[in-house]
Amino acid sequence: MINVTKSYLCNKTKFLSYVDCIYASGWLTNHGPLVSELEDRLRDYLGVRNIILTNNGTLALQIAYRALDLSGSAITTPFSFVATTSSLQWERIRPIFADIDKATWNLDPLAIEAMIDSDTQAIVATHVFGNACDVESIARVAERHRLKVIYDGAPAFGVRYQGESVLNRGDLSTLSFHATKLFHTIEGGAIVTNDDALAARIRLLCNFGIVDTDLIEGIGINAKLNEFAAAMGLCILDDMALILEQREDIARRYEDQLGDHVDLQKQQPHSQRNHSYFPIGLASESQLLRCRAALNAKGINPRRYFYPSLDTLGYLQPQTPQIHSRALSRRVLCLPIYPGLPRHVQDNVIETLLAEVSVRSQRQTAAFWPQANVTDWMEHRFSLPSPDCKRIS
Ligand SMILES: *Cc1c(COP(=O)(O)O)cnc(C)c1O
Repeated sequence: MINVTKSYLCNKTKFLSYVDCIYASGWLTNHGPLVSELEDRLRDYLGVRNIILTNNGTLALQIAYRALDLSGSAITTPFSFVATTSSLQWERIRPIFADIDKATWNLDPLAIEAMIDSDTQAIVATHVFGNACDVESIARVAERHRLKVIYDGAPAFGVRYQGESVLNRGDLSTLSFHATKLFHTIEGGAIVTNDDALAARIRLLCNFGIVDTDLIEGIGINAKLNEFAAAMGLCILDDMALILEQREDIARRYEDQLGDHVDLQKQQPHSQRNHSYFPIGLASESQLLRCRAALNAKGINPRRYFYPSLDTLGYLQPQTPQIHSRALSRRVLCLPIYPGLPRHVQDNVIETLLAEVSVRSQRQTAAFWPQANVTDWMEHRFSLPSPDCKRIS
């Protein structure tokens, strides 16, 4: 089975040489030498001031909210991985959704402002599929309403915006180093901030609030990364140039061959790309399901990221339906992209999709609007109340 991604495994001999170091030192966790080295190298590689490693990206979000003392509610995006929302709810901060921009698929700054209420203390936005948010507009909204800004930067590893790391925006940014991500430590994550005092507070929060052997300062939790995980990270960091090059190659071939037939996420101006995902927007959910079935039949397993739209989660208080997010989540499919994806498999993905996408226009035109010519059908389709039928462009 060809999956949407495949965990990158570094050179085994190199990894085992780090394991030898761990055996030699006997230091397995609690901010050991490999975690320190990985923090130093990531600080340089990403171009950030402070980076604190954690044992996953979800806890990184939860600790970020704690570090900023958040309560009340936070405006967030319905089009993201579920952890962006669940981490808020877990910390008893009420998520309030604002809709996304139809083109960039990121939280729409204008929509944010409309949803702010007297309890709102923060904005939690995701750089969706590594595409930088409109960080300037979000900063202006936050300033006007005295809100904190947290970026879920899990998909934005290495992304630069206007020449510097996009992770430097907002009060805090978080990362995930889960095995399926562009860069990983098997399980892991990080919090990034420009504020040294906040960074010190985060370090305490990640280690039970322990200052030293005799002093505990406030409540904390265990979010420590272990040395074996850091070893994997150090090895993979050596390979990043190669990983990015291969992903770019695959992305370019998809773009060239599918770009005229499906919707692609519009890049935020000045946002660099890391090709952590290759999402396509199909014309409708039924087309998406047909494409997925056709690919599955060939042993290829694309994924619906992000589905369902998070404003439909059953465990939340009733939410205002976020129309663009709901429509988009029904028709976005992420295609396989990872170093080592065989070219013939990618060709197979492309051919299968092209066959489905072209068959569809004929079949549906005939089935739904037998009397209408194509132009009438197009007009009718755009005026349908169901967002399912709208092509977002
Ligand atoms: C992966 C991911 C997370 C969660 O990170 P984990 O390390 O799996 O806990 C959160 N938000 C987004 C957008 C992600 O892609």
